[in-house]
Amino acid sequence: MIVMEPPAAENAATRVDWRERAERVISGESLTRAEARQILAVDDVEILGLLDAAFLLRRHNFGTEMKLNMLVNAKSGLCPEDCNYCSQARGADTGIDRYPLLDKDTLVAGAREARDRGASTYCIVASGRGPTPKELTHVTDAVREIKQEMPIRICACLGLLKEGQADQLKDAGVDRYNHNINTSRRHHEAIVSTHTYDDRVETVNDAKSVGISPCSGAIVGMGETDDDRVDMAFELHAMGAESIPINFLIPIAGTPMGDQAPLTPYDCLRILAMFRFVSPDREIRVAGGREIRLRSLQPLALFAANSIFLGDYLTTDGQDSQQDRDMIDDLGFGLEEVGSCSGGGSCGSGGCSS
Ligand code: SF4
Repeated sequence: MIVMEPPAAENAATRVDWRERAERVISGESLTRAEARQILAVDDVEILGLLDAAFLLRRHNFGTEMKLNMLVNAKSGLCPEDCNYCSQARGADTGIDRYPLLDKDTLVAGAREARDRGASTYCIVASGRGPTPKELTHVTDAVREIKQEMPIRICACLGLLKEGQADQLKDAGVDRYNHNINTSRRHHEAIVSTHTYDDRVETVNDAKSVGISPCSGAIVGMGETDDDRVDMAFELHAMGAESIPINFLIPIAGTPMGDQAPLTPYDCLRILAMFRFVSPDREIRVAGGREIRLRSLQPLALFAANSIFLGDYLTTDGQDSQQDRDMIDDLGFGLEEVGSCSGGGSCGSGGCSS
């Protein structure tokens, strides 16, 4: 008699009924840390079952709608901080453009371009530890002008906020503030020494406390463990981050992380699915590194994530916007309309009664 051996891939992680687990999450059960770890251990050959379940969660909360964001690098380089992954950090020898804050007309023109490309959120991102009073006034003036002209949502990402600065941003009409925790509390000191993990959390909380929608996410592939990734997912959920960008490290020559081993496309998909399971109703964005880390598997990421950046990142190139639109069309997904609400209830972009 021939005894059939089970496939090598059939381990404890792959025997999970992911659909059933997604249904439990939809019915209100929270994922446990052990279950999140199981997601990160799924075999490559079992990844479609996991993504199918992640898609159940995504569809339950966001349908097949994609949210498009576009960013402007409003101030480049010249940063006194020492984030190991960043091409704009002090000491980084990367040959990037360095310039002070762009003038107001350029910031407003960027918002028009974002709107014309179909982005519902325009992200104004500036390098540095945090904005000076003059820089903040400059940005808020631009935001007021943009808000008068068009209904696009504005996300500001200007670094650590000082007392009163979140109020100023709120008054100007900023809908969302991004400040990533980037990595886990445990791994933070291996990444940066010039500010603490709590500094970052405090800024996210400042934005939230004045009614600005908090956006905070991660950079994965910086030598962190699976436990660190699980920590990040649960911490961001507990902080109430309504938008969670997941960046995949692009090792940049001239930074201390220039030789970091890259994540595989399947690693990226497992990580996105884990974040979706932990935060089923939050915006999960496939952010920097999407094109080069996921490569030909990019479309699969959108079964877990519901948001992407269009165009280029801060100092690295993205792909052509038309390619992104084609990918979304080919999947049969739609676009979030400019000015519409993606839920959450506290973004303050107007027209929302929740
Ligand atoms: S990530 Fe931000 S704070 Fe850190 S070095 Fe880069 S620009 Fe500066």
